[in-house]
Amino acid sequence: MITRITVLGAGTMGHGIAHAAMAGGFDTRLYDVSAPALDKARAAIEAIVARGVELGKVPASDARAIAGRLLTTSSLQDALADTELVIEAAPERIDLKIALLADIETHAPAAAVIATNTSALSITEMAGSMKNPRRVAGMHFFNPVHKMTLVEIVQALESAPATIQTIADVARRMRKETVLVRESPGFITSRVNATIGNEAFSMLQEGVASARDIDRALKLGLNHPMGPFELVDLVGLDTRLAVLEYLHRSLGEKYRPCPLLVQHVKAGRLGRKVGRGVYEY
Ligand code: NAD
Repeated sequence: MITRITVLGAGTMGHGIAHAAMAGGFDTRLYDVSAPALDKARAAIEAIVARGVELGKVPASDARAIAGRLLTTSSLQDALADTELVIEAAPERIDLKIALLADIETHAPAAAVIATNTSALSITEMAGSMKNPRRVAGMHFFNPVHKMTLVEIVQALESAPATIQTIADVARRMRKETVLVRESPGFITSRVNATIGNEAFSMLQEGVASARDIDRALKLGLNHPMGPFELVDLVGLDTRLAVLEYLHRSLGEKYRPCPLLVQHVKAGRLGRKVGRGVYEY
């Protein structure tokens, strides 16, 4: 049974994944090229644990044990020595991820399982760069990791059943629910989400209803926690457009980005991060 996990990349997702590993009882090493990112990640993890104690979800004695399971390091060699599962959460660039896989091949034990948290890139392509692609699969967490229950396990063309089993077992010990998906653009969640968001833009463009009413309809009538425009403003309209363009290229016409979305991006209405998207903030 796996006891040691290494997380590569300590950003938005990496710190949350490291926390889930620590809370699941794993010895956790968190690596980043940036020392400030590691400091920030440690502080964010401590805040999540402290909040758990405050809310009575985590006993204070457990909190100390959880905190004691983290080692942060900017030495890739130290991060990978003796590891049993590597979870890669570095920026979404295939060249960077392939370079990291080569480092893992050099420094990690040959038996270590490798999971990538990529949102959309081809895991089969990444794995194809390795001597043993059978030990690679996707482990797609959601943001914020400590609040979101799902992990999509993504089976690449050559992922071994034992690799999938190990990842499923680790996810369960992190108290996550899993779904298994064969590698395909956008997996389950990003594909459905992008489709709903695109349809909402088409309805707005056709004048079917106002943005506020489309959001209200999906929240109150379909029980979505957020409306599609509230959500796209949070995700970033540029990010959503990039996902749709990728789905359009790989899966066909159905995913062509709505012209109104493209226009919003051209106008710089990228969402909350710039103060205006579909709504003004
Ligand atoms: P982020 O930019 O917040 O963090 C990335 C971290 O990786 C940074 O701290 C950066 O310093 C570090 N980094 C850069 N180069 C590195 C290298 N060579 N080795 C190790 N670390 C390196 O990004 P994020 O949002 O955490 O995304 C990470 C991955 O997770 C991406 O593949 C992304 O698509 C995926 N993802 C993101 C979300 C989300 O909502 N943000 C959700 C699911 C999956």
